[in-house]
Amino acid sequence: MGIITREEWGSTGRRGGSPLKGPLAPVVIHTWAMAATGRTPMTQAKAASWMQSVQAGHRNARRFADIGYNFCVDPHGRIFEGRGWLRSGAHTIELNRAGHGLALMGHGDQQAATPAQWDALRNLILTGQAAGAISEDYTVTGHRDWPSSKGKTCPGNMIYPHIHKLDAGTTFMTAAGEKHYPTTAGDRDLVRGDTGPGVRVLQWVLNTHYSSDLAPDGDFGPLTEAAVRAAQNNAGLIVTGTWGHYAALDTWASLDDALTAATTSIDEAATAVNDAKADIASARARISAINQAQAG
Ligand SMILES: [Zn+2]
Repeated sequence: MGIITREEWGSTGRRGGSPLKGPLAPVVIHTWAMAATGRTPMTQAKAASWMQSVQAGHRNARRFADIGYNFCVDPHGRIFEGRGWLRSGAHTIELNRAGHGLALMGHGDQQAATPAQWDALRNLILTGQAAGAISEDYTVTGHRDWPSSKGKTCPGNMIYPHIHKLDAGTTFMTAAGEKHYPTTAGDRDLVRGDTGPGVRVLQWVLNTHYSSDLAPDGDFGPLTEAAVRAAQNNAGLIVTGTWGHYAALDTWASLDDALTAATTSIDEAATAVNDAKADIASARARISAINQAQAG
């Protein structure tokens, strides 16, 4: 399966994000033009120009380091490289550094995804697994499953009910189109003693955003509870030792802007450090070439 690279679609500027170490379990499905017209690009050239304009919008209006998604898929199933497998995105606060954001071009409240788009997403996930970026037991969620989506419908009412098509065997789906959160146990927050994929995602979130060092085993044991308490304490929340949107929704919303700003500056700093390292390496190579020339 061919992926249209950043160079091929005319990306400008640096690749954003900090290093992302796989394999990661969460995959988040987005649709990217929720506020725009329902028209979708039909030619590769048109889709490429959409990539360019979304990249510019994310950089300038949203102050991201780069286009926010890891990959984007047009209605013909063409896959465009965003930040790629190895760089954190800017698409879902809770998962930017713990999962991959895959975006469907189109308006998910007005248009269903095309069969070509579903096939491309399936192939993309398989490719991610082969690359060691996505874990065998990955979990598909929609952007709206995450409290930081703040009530957005993304990936849209026409797409969200069908994302289970991409499942590896686990799912957080409830009734079609119904909003729910994977970090809850349905009608209550997660508590010690709970097990399952929702707990595993919670553990990823604790590890990536609260410096916890939990084995993502899906078992809400004493270590996970201690990590939840520490995270709540650090964030200035009421310390309950339980976790879910019932407790977290308001807090996520209020932390949203701060987290976005912090993540963006960390990403920019990481990119600058990498660039500096490359400059130092090339300067060293030049010095040693000069030394050799003088010695000769
Ligand atoms: Zn989204």
